[in-house]
Amino acid sequence: MKLISFVIPCYNEAEGLHLLMERLDLFVNRLREKVNVEVILVDDHSTDGSQALMHRLCSERDYLKFIRLSRNSGSHVAIIAGMRYCKGDAAVFLAADLQDPPELVEEMIVKWEEGYDVTWAVRAERRGVSRTSVFFSNMFYRLLNSMTEIHFPKKGADYALMDRKVVDGLVQSAGSKPSLGALISWLGFKQTEIPYVKEERKFGRSKWTLSKKLNAFADAFVGFSYLPMRFMSLVGFIAAFCGFSYALFVVVMRFVVGHPIEGWASLMVVILIIGGLQMLMLGVLGEYLWRNLEESRKRPLFLIEDHKGIEP
Ligand code: UDP
Ligand code: MG
Repeated sequence: MKLISFVIPCYNEAEGLHLLMERLDLFVNRLREKVNVEVILVDDHSTDGSQALMHRLCSERDYLKFIRLSRNSGSHVAIIAGMRYCKGDAAVFLAADLQDPPELVEEMIVKWEEGYDVTWAVRAERRGVSRTSVFFSNMFYRLLNSMTEIHFPKKGADYALMDRKVVDGLVQSAGSKPSLGALISWLGFKQTEIPYVKEERKFGRSKWTLSKKLNAFADAFVGFSYLPMRFMSLVGFIAAFCGFSYALFVVVMRFVVGHPIEGWASLMVVILIIGGLQMLMLGVLGEYLWRNLEESRKRPLFLIEDHKGIEP
């Protein structure tokens, strides 16, 4: 029988883990009639007692394993860590908060058996999320698709099943600041989508803070697009062109028309605009440079602090 691995990143989800386990116990029991199952909880360095709880949950279930990372690294890194140690012929990743119904995996397995290497569960609908969040998230995926070479599900997806070869590819190409969805899309292979309703969070609060989201945004763009740099060159070119035209205008006014332009104000405008543009360009360059530095340091993406049931 084939083995399916579930990888579930958890950051301070202790209060809801029993709910997750109740649901998984039922589902895994049913699924095991068709395939072998392992579930790896990846504790992203929680501070709410998840570690002890996971030890206990693991000792009560033969299908359950866990890894604890040495520092909070974000769910993308946590998922890659789980993928690194999973043994499945195919692997699924999904959130711990039951927003992504595990039962959908049955449908994904059907797609996998049809020959698809990646099956994305795409959010057809999102419950319990504000309109502004949905707007910004849709904009993010649209920008990602139009500005980079990758084709990601337009409404976003954070739940997928991948074949072994994709899992290996993912672990190999993770780099130092992985953007999971973009990376999987970029890997290629045969990909497909199935729609699902993303439920409301069943317990606790979202662990994706605004700063984490902004970082993920920068990682995705810097990781997969040179367009921001190109755009900066274009802006620089236009600004320089305007500057030269204005200089010509000033010279003509002085020597041809004989009406010199006086201009503390206009001087300030020009200096401020050019200064601002230069800072902006340096900032964009810095984003690329910084990631380059990060990559060349070759620090490990994650370290394992504790584990049960896996062989690190
Ligand atoms: N998560 C994580 N590390 C983090 C933030 C989140 O492992 O630093 C996990 C979290 O426990 C959950 C999943 O990633 O299982 C998705 O996060 P969450 O539900 O908080 O995000 P949202 O659904 O609001 O996008
Ligand atoms: Mg969630």
